[in-house]
Amino acid sequence: MTNSPCISHFIVTALQQRCSVVTNTDNGETVIIDGGGESQRIIQWIDSGIGEPDSQIGEYDGERKVVALINTHAHFDHSGHIPYFKEHYQLEWWLHEADFFLQTLAQQSAKRWGFDIPEPAIAENTWNHGDVHRFANMDFEIIHTPGHTLGGCCLQLFVEDGPDHLFAGDTLFQGSIGRTDLPHSGGDMDLLLRMIRERLWPLSDDTIVHPGHGPMTTIGDEKKYNPFLSDDHRGRGAWL
Ligand SMILES: [Zn+2]
Repeated sequence: MTNSPCISHFIVTALQQRCSVVTNTDNGETVIIDGGGESQRIIQWIDSGIGEPDSQIGEYDGERKVVALINTHAHFDHSGHIPYFKEHYQLEWWLHEADFFLQTLAQQSAKRWGFDIPEPAIAENTWNHGDVHRFANMDFEIIHTPGHTLGGCCLQLFVEDGPDHLFAGDTLFQGSIGRTDLPHSGGDMDLLLRMIRERLWPLSDDTIVHPGHGPMTTIGDEKKYNPFLSDDHRGRGAWL
C-alpha cells in the first residue's frame, strides 16, 4: 500500500489518450501507464521539469525515477511511443499476453488513422487476472476486462490514506464504454458489459477512475449514471 501518490496526466495524440505518470511520493519512483504518444514532452518533464502535465492529482516536487512501463491494452494510441520510453529509460514493458498479436499491428493501424509511429514495441512481461504486482513500491492489481480488446485490463492502485485509483484504459469511460468494433481487437459488447459488472462494480464506490479518454469519474458515479450499464441499454462505445 502506498500513501497519496502523485498522478500526472498527459493527454496525448490526436485521439486525446490519457497517459498517466504515477509517482510514489516517498521515493520518487515512477510508473508510466499507457505511453501512447508525446514521449519527448513527457520525458522532458520527468527528467528536467520542463513543461507541465495537463492535469495532476497530488503533489511531488522531488526528482522522479521511472522504474516501470505498464499498459492497459495494446491499441496504438496507448502504446505508440513505448519504443521511445523503453529506449530512453532502458526498461522492460508489461502488457497482457492476449494483446501481444494486436500490438504487432500498432504501426499499420496508426497509419490507417494518419499517424506515424515507430516499429511496435514487444512486451517482455505479461500478467494474469488477479495478480498484484509491485511497481515503484506501489501495489497494482491486474483486473482483466476483455471486450474492448482481448487483453484489455484495468489496473487498480491500492492507496493507504485515500481512495484507490483505477486506470481503466478503454474499458470504462465517464458515461460510456470502449468500442467493440475495432479491427483485430476481439471486441465483444456482451463480454465487455459482463466484465464491467462482474469485475469493476464490486470495487469501492469512491474508487477514482482514470479512463483512457475523456473526463475522470468514480466507480460509484458510473454504477449510477452510465447509460450503457443500465438494465436494458445496448449500444456502441465512443472511443478507440
Ligand atoms: Zn483502445
